[in-house]
Amino acid sequence: METATKGNINVSVENIFPLIKKFLYSDHEIFLRELVSNATDATTKLKHLSSIGKIKEELGDLRIEIKVDKENKKIHVIDSGIGMTKEEVEKYINEIAFSGAEEFIAAYNESDDKKTKTNGIIGHFGLGFYSSFLVAHKVEIITQSFQKNQPTVHWTCEGSPAYDLVETTKRSRGTEVILHISDDSKEFLDDIKIEGLLNKYSKFVATPIQFGTRTETLPLPKDAPKDAKPETKEVDKIINNTTPAWTKSPRSLKEEDYKSFYRELYPTQFEEPLFHIHLNVDHPFKLTGILYFPKLRNDLSVQKDKIQLYQNQVFVTDNVEGIVPEFLTLLRGVIDSPDIPLNVSRSYLQADGAVKKISGHITSKVAAKLQSLFKKDRKGFEEKWNGIKVIIEYGMLSDESFYKKAEKFALYPTTDGDFLTYTELEEKIKTNQTDKDGKLVILYASDKEEQHIYIENAREKGYTVLLFNSPIYGHLLQKIETNRDKVSFSRVDSDSLENLIKTDDKAISKLDDKQQEKLKEIVKSVIKEPYIVQLEALDSQELPFVITQPEFMRRWQEMQSVTGTGFGGGMPPSYNVIVNTNHDLVVQIFNTKHKAKKTRLINQAFDFSRLSQNLLKGEELTHFIKRSIQLIQLDNKPKVTKEKIDSNIKSAQTKQKKEAPNKKSN
Ligand code: ADP
Repeated sequence: METATKGNINVSVENIFPLIKKFLYSDHEIFLRELVSNATDATTKLKHLSSIGKIKEELGDLRIEIKVDKENKKIHVIDSGIGMTKEEVEKYINEIAFSGAEEFIAAYNESDDKKTKTNGIIGHFGLGFYSSFLVAHKVEIITQSFQKNQPTVHWTCEGSPAYDLVETTKRSRGTEVILHISDDSKEFLDDIKIEGLLNKYSKFVATPIQFGTRTETLPLPKDAPKDAKPETKEVDKIINNTTPAWTKSPRSLKEEDYKSFYRELYPTQFEEPLFHIHLNVDHPFKLTGILYFPKLRNDLSVQKDKIQLYQNQVFVTDNVEGIVPEFLTLLRGVIDSPDIPLNVSRSYLQADGAVKKISGHITSKVAAKLQSLFKKDRKGFEEKWNGIKVIIEYGMLSDESFYKKAEKFALYPTTDGDFLTYTELEEKIKTNQTDKDGKLVILYASDKEEQHIYIENAREKGYTVLLFNSPIYGHLLQKIETNRDKVSFSRVDSDSLENLIKTDDKAISKLDDKQQEKLKEIVKSVIKEPYIVQLEALDSQELPFVITQPEFMRRWQEMQSVTGTGFGGGMPPSYNVIVNTNHDLVVQIFNTKHKAKKTRLINQAFDFSRLSQNLLKGEELTHFIKRSIQLIQLDNKPKVTKEKIDSNIKSAQTKQKKEAPNKKSN
């Protein structure tokens, strides 16, 4: 005897399904995640009941099975979980789940942030099961409760609030959900598509998921002939890893386990991560996960592989903005927390107290890990520095608490290949690089090759030159200068060393004021804008002419180009030409009476300085080369006379004729 129940799902919305469909248009694929999650929950609940002795018998094989029936346009999701009684179907599917769906629609309509909001609401409002109607015009549930005295029941719903609920032939424990796929969702009747979705959303759920089969090659028997072909057989294919590394205790994992989990997460990444951080929090929120520091290149270009967010091993999103501090979104890995409210908009998320705590916790965990790596293995940390500095510098800029922590382990590489902490750097340079006003001048270069001569000069004076080549160093220097008293950073080529680190002793010039005035006019008549001529009594060992690029302007332009605000980007860089009045060549220029020679010498000295800044190109470079050859020739007057050269040519010609008598001479 069957007792059929016909009814109407209690509705205030006339026909909810078309609405659901419309709102979630771009997210149709999440139906599978929802059904697999329900099947996993049902299995977990069963295991729990068994563990507390409420179920005595063996539980058997608990895998979830997914089947695509292309011919009949159906997808089956089958589990051996706790199942449902008839009353439970009434309650959980018809009432609770449905009112959840209703609530979803209501909340959704209020939202102005539609796309982000939908993603999170599913599940939280219990739309879960009803998301089936995103792809199906008819859904069936056949379910047998773990309570043996309960009948197996069959629920059918055709996409309108009306449903059918009847008792049916007894089945074994568990639930089968059958989706009759709508014509506009036929793409989901494809094995490859379904496998892709299982991999995306359910790759790490706690219950094994079987989908299709795979061919296994059997090992050859020992006595098999050499040319024997191994036998193969079809075996069930399990899609997921039910115990991903982040769910295990850090103590049970070895370095290699973390690395192989990284490869599992990012199969297309060939480079190994530099190190990992295992997150494991119970209070005041639950959070587990593993974050990896990838080896980053020196740019901030968008990273393809992002941190993945899970809730109880079910993939939710790879947009962790708001949950993870901005600078750590460059990391990779997994975060799993049931406590992150996903049913809110991003802006609300950022203001949420619990989420703020999560984000703060992740930041301090990362800082603590870096600190301990630095302490335990300084050498190893230094080797990794260039691959991680972008993240750390970015963090120091954007997060005050991280800045404070990072002061202990942030490194400042020198052009000599040392890595110093700020304290070590200060200790090293303070006697030599404090100027007459008590300001500590930190010299740096951004390119060891391009600024070679400037670095060399500074080194000769016993100065330390740092090497900053990350894209955001300008911003970082700015911040350090603001945070610390009497500290300034100057690129080695931003001025003469005498001006960069001013001392009390006034340099004596070989030319007096009047002579200098005169020389300046002469040089200015040769060297034109945008170069600004400046006379200075530098060390006689320094170059005669030195090109510098004022720090402030250059740094500002660089910072603008990183933040992309565009200002300054179009402005031509400005250069100063410092004429070293103490260099012998400069004195020689001044003393030369011959006008053409004077101009030639000025141009030559100027071109040398431009060469050292890599500024000499094209036609100007050609001029320089030709002029240099001429100058060398002038300096080395030929010792061979014209008559001698003529006779040389003659004897060479006679020799040629003798050696090739048959050849006609021309
Ligand atoms: P949620 O999973 O968020 O509670 P759903 O709409 O997905 O919301 O499901 C509603 C309820 O239906 C579940 O809480 C559960 O009690 C029941 N249910 C759904 N699927 C299954 C299943 N495969 N086995 C047993 N119970 C299920």
